[in-house]
This record gives sequence, C-alpha cells and structure tokens, in this order.
Amino acid sequence: MGDRLTRILVLADLEGSSGCWSYTASSFLTDEWCQACLEMSRDVSMVVSALFEAGVKTITIKDFHRTGYNLFPELIDPRATLISGYRRGPIPGIGRHYDAQAVMFLGMHAASGSEGFLAHTMTSRIARLEVNRRLLAEIELFAASLAPWGIRPVFFSGCPVACQQAAAVIQNLDCFAIDKSRGADKFDFNAWRSELAQAAVKSLTNHRTIPYEPAGPLDAIVTMRDGDAVAAKLARRWKFIQNGPRSGFRPLI
Ligand SMILES: [Zn+2]
Repeated sequence: MGDRLTRILVLADLEGSSGCWSYTASSFLTDEWCQACLEMSRDVSMVVSALFEAGVKTITIKDFHRTGYNLFPELIDPRATLISGYRRGPIPGIGRHYDAQAVMFLGMHAASGSEGFLAHTMTSRIARLEVNRRLLAEIELFAASLAPWGIRPVFFSGCPVACQQAAAVIQNLDCFAIDKSRGADKFDFNAWRSELAQAAVKSLTNHRTIPYEPAGPLDAIVTMRDGDAVAAKLARRWKFIQNGPRSGFRPLI
C-alpha cells in the first residue's frame, strides 16, 4: 500500500456523470435534474467507497455543478467529507486545499466551442474560450488553481471529447470516458459505475503527473454567445480589448 495516494480531493460535476442526458437535466430544479443528482450521487459514492477500500485515508468531495448543491449527502459514503456550495477562496470555487495530495475530476464536460456532450467552459454564455489559440477546458483552470499546494491531477472522467482534451494538456492523466451516444435506455449504469470506480482506484498509483502550472504569457480570447453588446460590456468592465462578439486579454502572471 506504501506507494498509493492516501489523501484525495474529488471535484464532482454533473454533465459527465451517468444521470445527465440532456441540458434540462443539468438545469437547476427540473425533474430530470433530480434524477441526475441521484445517479451522480451513486457514481461519486461508489468511487469514494472503492478508494477507501483501497486504503485511502481521507477524501474530500467538492460538489462542483452550478450552485454546488447536487449531491445527496445521505447517499454518499459517510467516511468522506462533502463540501457543498460555492466557495470564494482562497481557491476560487473550491475553497481550501483540504490537505489533499491529488485531485480526481468526476462527471466533467468538454470545453466551450468543442463537440463534446453539453460542452461549456464555466458558463454556456461563453461560446468559445481560447487561451494561446487553444480551447480552454475547465480542468486546466482548476488543476492550475490547486497547483500552488502541490496537488496533482491524477484521474478524470467525462465524455470522450472531454477526456481527449484533458489528456492533451495533463500528461499521464488517467482518463475514463462515458459514452452517451446510444442513449440512457441502452446504458448499463451498474457496469459503467463499477468500471469507473476501478479506474479511479488504479489511478492511486499514478505518480507520473505533476502539478499543472502552465507557463505564461497567456493570451485569452472570449467569444460571447450573446454577441457584440455583451462582449462590449464585458470588455468595458474588465478593460479587455473588444472585436465584435470577442473580448481578448492578457492576464498578468
Ligand atoms: Zn456542471
């Protein structure tokens, strides 16, 4: 057990979990959303239980979809600590580092502007977000915000496009995809979920990734779904350069 990771942070999103099959299911307080939350809770709990069985000592789960209130606490393995709601800092959205050695991303989605299932970056109001001429996936934002604490990304699950994007930026990341192309009726929830849990356990011996710290300078171009006026407002507020529906900026690193 010696070389296995023992302190894990899980970031859990909904779009790439096994219960979310439509945009409606990702939308707060719809009937489909309730069902999606139920399946997401089962996904997360099965992963967490398998990690504990494999010798993990502490697991913090950060509920990471929209409001941060999607997981049913009563369905989650009680050995884990569940953090619900949005946390402002010191790590934006996540809160603290929770003394984790590594982070696992569950239920994730692909970047805005790509073909993945319910693809978006932060919000569907952003039609496309490029950094240094490449689409930016959320894993980059959150892996980078955890890097100052030495926390390494080791595992990622989401649609096949999301997995490709994550693997392209985080070398040696272990990925496990969910293929929703055949529809929920033909999807074997139990089989997929237990394979997910086993794949997560395997990543406990992933010592090949490093904290994600992309080198600057970073040139970002944001294309807003709602066009010129919204981009102009954003550009004014944040002192970006605007060109039609696009705003660009170069953050100081
Ligand atoms: Zn989400």
